[in-house]
Amino acid sequence: KSGFISIIGRPNVGKSTFLNRVVGQKIAIMSDKPQTTRNKVQGVVTTDHSQLIFIDTPGIHKPKHKLGDFMVKSARNTLKEVDVIMFMVNANEPIGGGDRFIIDMLEKTETPVFLVINKIDLVHPDDLLTIITSYTEEYNFAEIVPLSALNGNNVERLMETLTNYL
Ligand code: GDP
Ligand code: MG
Repeated sequence: KSGFISIIGRPNVGKSTFLNRVVGQKIAIMSDKPQTTRNKVQGVVTTDHSQLIFIDTPGIHKPKHKLGDFMVKSARNTLKEVDVIMFMVNANEPIGGGDRFIIDMLEKTETPVFLVINKIDLVHPDDLLTIITSYTEEYNFAEIVPLSALNGNNVERLMETLTNYL
């Protein structure tokens, strides 16, 4: 199995930390899945039975800036073409305008969206349900995965769940 995954989320939620943890190699891709938008490959994870290709979504990472039509269209096209969208949030911060900006962009996509709640090492387990609910009130996520990109907790499970969607 092989497929494309895009990680979106506001600055400092831990996207790069996650990629650095899971991505073993940065190579050119030989996938037979065509993409019409040219996207930057951020890294590839190869396991015995799957290849996960993480690609950048230009435009969606700077929600504070007003995006031009072209940027919005480009971001939407990318979101349409990937197999899974990972929407990463910070468990230690309340949902904010930056998160809602991204959720609005997800509104019209049929691509499955995972809610990835990062930095769970910083919160008490009893608070997790409240955190999850603050996001699920806003969007119908395909999967909800709490993890810590820093210490690796639950990262392996996310990789397995991603593979199920390719
Ligand atoms: P990005 O802007 O989304 O790419 O976020 P970064 O990966 O640069 O991370 C921003 C900060 O959050 C860095 O100081 C990371 O070390 C920290 N960070 C990332 N993931 C975790 C995590 O799971 N737990 C904790 N405690 N800190 C994290
Ligand atoms: Mg980064």
